[in-house]
Amino acid sequence: MTWRTVLASPILLIAALGCDSGDPTRSGADLVLRGGRVYSLAWPDPDPKGAPAAGAPRSADGWRPDAQAIAVVDGRIVAVGGDSEVASWIGPETRVVELGGATVLPGMIDSHTHVVSYGELIGRVSLLGVETEEAAVERIAAAAATTPAGEWIVAWGFDEGAWANRLPDKTLLTERVPDHPVHAISLHGFVTWENQMSLDRAGITGTTDAPVGGSIELDDAGDPTGILRDNASDLYAEIIPAATLDQRIENARRGLQAMADLGYTAVHDAGVRRGDLEAFTALADRGELPIRVYAMLAIDDEQLIREWIERGPAVEPRNRLTVRSVKAYYDASLGARGARLLEDYADRPGHRGVSGGDYGFDRALAIEAMRAGFQLGIHAIGDAGNRETLDFFESAFTQAPGAENNRHRIEHAQIVHPLDQPRFGALGIIASMEPPHAVEDKSWAEDRLGPERVRHGYAWRSLREQGARLAFNSDMSGSDPNLFYGLHAVVTRRGKDRRPPGGWFPEQALTPEEAVRAYSLWNAFAGFAEGETGTLEVGKLADMTVTDLDPFVVGVDDPDRLLAGEVLMTIVGGEIAFESGVTEPVPGALYKNPLELP
Ligand SMILES: [Zn+2]
Repeated sequence: MTWRTVLASPILLIAALGCDSGDPTRSGADLVLRGGRVYSLAWPDPDPKGAPAAGAPRSADGWRPDAQAIAVVDGRIVAVGGDSEVASWIGPETRVVELGGATVLPGMIDSHTHVVSYGELIGRVSLLGVETEEAAVERIAAAAATTPAGEWIVAWGFDEGAWANRLPDKTLLTERVPDHPVHAISLHGFVTWENQMSLDRAGITGTTDAPVGGSIELDDAGDPTGILRDNASDLYAEIIPAATLDQRIENARRGLQAMADLGYTAVHDAGVRRGDLEAFTALADRGELPIRVYAMLAIDDEQLIREWIERGPAVEPRNRLTVRSVKAYYDASLGARGARLLEDYADRPGHRGVSGGDYGFDRALAIEAMRAGFQLGIHAIGDAGNRETLDFFESAFTQAPGAENNRHRIEHAQIVHPLDQPRFGALGIIASMEPPHAVEDKSWAEDRLGPERVRHGYAWRSLREQGARLAFNSDMSGSDPNLFYGLHAVVTRRGKDRRPPGGWFPEQALTPEEAVRAYSLWNAFAGFAEGETGTLEVGKLADMTVTDLDPFVVGVDDPDRLLAGEVLMTIVGGEIAFESGVTEPVPGALYKNPLELP
């Protein structure tokens, strides 16, 4: 298969295509949606405070859709307008979807996911939502009861942020599960919890050196407690049997289909290693990628990165798989106190976390990738982590001329000192952030940061006002990727439990319009795709998300009701990737649509 090399400037295919808009002489469109509330987003962005642009479809009563119907030919939009305007596109072969008042939005994009590992997690012991060590051990023991002795048990999902002050050790786990090696990975992957057999298999003792950017916790006697932090889990990379290619393909398919079921037409996958890329490529070759994938290659897969630096950014022919981004880590997580702070942690004096070279950040390779035309997405959480990452970009731009145009990103941009907020806009760095993290971390973030610094956390509005472009995402599987959960968090700063009633630092909330834009057009921009997707306009790819409620109206009138929203259809390039009640849901999916309302 021949991939298309990506040009240095954004691809604008529409102009070259000469699409047959206004030429209904053919036998009709492939697909027509009508009778809906269509928001094309084909009007300018709201101002930095959220006030809608002059051209926005609004009246004294508030928002109203700007179209009712859409026609699609060969995967592209050929008409957007009123039902009567689009009617001429209906021919004998046209599939007509009667929307019955459902809402049509530009295809939703999740700009930071880990879909292959999500597919893999579906097969693991889930510790999601488990609150105590005892309950976690019971779940693992139950799995052990049906697993042959000596075989690995891999569990996932205990929340390292919520558990940070009471992390378990190996004692109870070893006692209850003595005959299986157990490797339990935390929700966001920054902590692992091992039993004794697992430590033995990996050869970890009191004298083992942890890899750079990792630590092995020891007890007073100098023995490993069973808790490994940050990069220390690399010690297991070669020990636990890796998935075969067929399993990885299946994991990728499950992860992507689960996202299609939640309304997403594309994902940016943040940290793609060779095995994941092989799986995506195999699905692309077979024409079986359910949604689009923008692969951000994992910089620690150095061999893979070097091959792509040789080759340069590229897009596969059907436009479903793009490789033009590299993902790196600058610091770790706030919950587990690995994020690098400018001042000590409020709840651990003398401690500021780790960053940069101490966390394994490969500066030279990052600059080489930038020179080869790749976007860099760098994970930075703490205020020092963010400052140092901005410093890195600033100096890298002098060493890699032209690189400043490649839409580099800071992934998470979680705590940003006010002095650094304007630097995002000035340097052209996109703040790629997770609305769910704000409403999930609210219970402990202030403990880590104290009352002053916490105000500069998860600061969507401040960053926009200071000129930053935003991209919104879930970081699934660490957070529930449900689209309506994300929209609700953006608009209300409240959790699924609708708390706190007034919102957590509500001055940082955005408007429903900004929320919808962040998940569509702004994410498309972060993946160089705004010429092809992100709005519903003639000539663009027909990527659409159909929902049962109208987030523009509900988000203003009764925002908590957003949580009850459901996706009805997900359409990618005119093909139906998900249709409520028609297509099969992914068996065992961890996060389901719709959300349960408390
Ligand atoms: Zn991530």
